[in-house]
Amino acid sequence: MKPAVAQDAEAYLNALLSTEAVFDTTAFVALEAESEVTMAEREDVWKAWQTVENFTYGKDRGSLPMIADLNSLHPYFRDRIAELIEVCKAQGIELAVVESYRTHAKQAEYFGMGRKYTRSKGGNSKHQYGLAVDVVPVIDGKAVWENHALWRKIGVNGERLGLRWGGRWRAPYDPAHFEWSGGITTTQLAKGMLPAIPRSKSSLYPCLEEEIKKLQEYWEAWETEQAVMASSAKTVVRSGGATGQKP
Ligand SMILES: [Zn+2]
Repeated sequence: MKPAVAQDAEAYLNALLSTEAVFDTTAFVALEAESEVTMAEREDVWKAWQTVENFTYGKDRGSLPMIADLNSLHPYFRDRIAELIEVCKAQGIELAVVESYRTHAKQAEYFGMGRKYTRSKGGNSKHQYGLAVDVVPVIDGKAVWENHALWRKIGVNGERLGLRWGGRWRAPYDPAHFEWSGGITTTQLAKGMLPAIPRSKSSLYPCLEEEIKKLQEYWEAWETEQAVMASSAKTVVRSGGATGQKP
């Protein structure tokens, strides 16, 4: 009598020779193709980040597009913002992401647009560390910037998630803005310090440092991209419009 393994091999060969397809390779081919695409895309995944053009939400936000992708944010902060969007959604409030990560080029553009846009020069905004986001409630497809009661609801939701809300600020009042920095200052961020995520959540981010390293590469790639855009967009004439504050 043949050993079991040989029997199995024989059965397998017989099956292969039969007209029945016993070994469907299409799934493997698809998987392989997918992984190849993923590998190729991995290096320039930043190019696929969602961006928002000026005036999309009814305000003049300058000629450089805004990065509005949650994947451009620090992983812990990203997940809190996703949570904020969920919590608001459950209350019937639809939030749009207006801007997430911000390049130095974009910050410099805001700075050049005047004090009502930002008081922060390049490097001083939490947006430049993937630690701030601007959102706006959308009703019937329209951004609603002036509903203070609505902003308050959204703001309190954010604060319950441990975020700092710009609606508490007076100069400038910035209810669209949420940030988190794990208790460290912008000066410390500028020196390369990373915010510490709450200990109770640290097990959820086992590869945090690698993820941030990758993010920083993507940010740098965007920086280069927008610096080029900024230098070629100097002749663009901006029309007027309502303003938003952007610390
Ligand atoms: Zn902001």
